[in-house]
Amino acid sequence: MTNVIQYLLKSTSQGKSFLFESVAMARKRRSSRLCYLCGKAGADSRDHVPPRGIFPKLPRGNLITVPAHKACNEAFSEDDEALRNVIIAASSRSEAGRQAWDEEVLPSFAKNPRARQFLLDRLVPVWVKDPQTGAFVRMTGIAVETSLYKRQMTRITRGLFYNRFRMPLPQDWPIKFHKMPPPEQSMRDLEALLARHGLKLRWQHVEPGIFSYYYGVVDEDNRIGIAVMVFFDTEVFWTKPGSGRGRHSN
Ligand SMILES: [Zn+2]
Repeated sequence: MTNVIQYLLKSTSQGKSFLFESVAMARKRRSSRLCYLCGKAGADSRDHVPPRGIFPKLPRGNLITVPAHKACNEAFSEDDEALRNVIIAASSRSEAGRQAWDEEVLPSFAKNPRARQFLLDRLVPVWVKDPQTGAFVRMTGIAVETSLYKRQMTRITRGLFYNRFRMPLPQDWPIKFHKMPPPEQSMRDLEALLARHGLKLRWQHVEPGIFSYYYGVVDEDNRIGIAVMVFFDTEVFWTKPGSGRGRHSN
C-alpha cells in the first residue's frame, strides 16, 4: 500500500493526465448510459427489476438492477406501491406472501392510507368451488385493472431485456402481455407455449419464493424473446417483447 501512495505522490504529469482522463472517461461513460425505460442517454440512477418494494428488507438473493433516469424511475413510485400491494394481497396462500403482508404492506398503510383505500375499493365477492365438497364458497377477491399489471409487466420486461442484452428494448416494439392462473394450473400451458418456440423453461430464482423468472430468446438476431414472471409462487405473467415484428417467423 505504501508503495502505491509513494507512487501516486511522485506521479509524473503524464501519470496525472492519465488519472484525469480515466475519471473524465468514466463520467462520460456514465452520462452516455442508456435508460432502460425511455431509451435515452444520461441514466443517472439504477432501478430494481422488479420494483424493490416486492422484496423483503434484507433479501438473500442478488437483485437485478438496470440503469434509468431518476425521473423515469420515480414516475412509477405510486404505481410500484400499488403493484406490490395487489400482488402480496393476492399471494396470501404463500408463506412468504403472508409474511410480506404483515411486515411490509400493513405497516405501510399508516404512512399511506390512500394505498389501503386503493385495495379496499377493489375488493369483490368471488365464488370459489371447494375442490373437496364441490360446493361454492363465497370469498373475497381483488379486482385489479389489467392496465396496472400490463404497465408494470411491460416495464419489468424492459428491465429483463436490458439485463439480457445490455441495451434498452426499442420504444416502438409492441409487448404482448398475459396474466395466468397460479403455477400449478398454468405451467403445463406455458411449457407447451415455450416448446412451440423451441424453448425450455429454466427458472432464475432472484429471491426464492418471491420472484422467479425465465427469459427465453426465440430469435437471437432480432432479440425477440418470451419472459415468464412468477411472484410469490402465485401470480404468473408472461410477455413477448417484439411480437408482431418479423411476423414471417411468428
Ligand atoms: Zn429515462
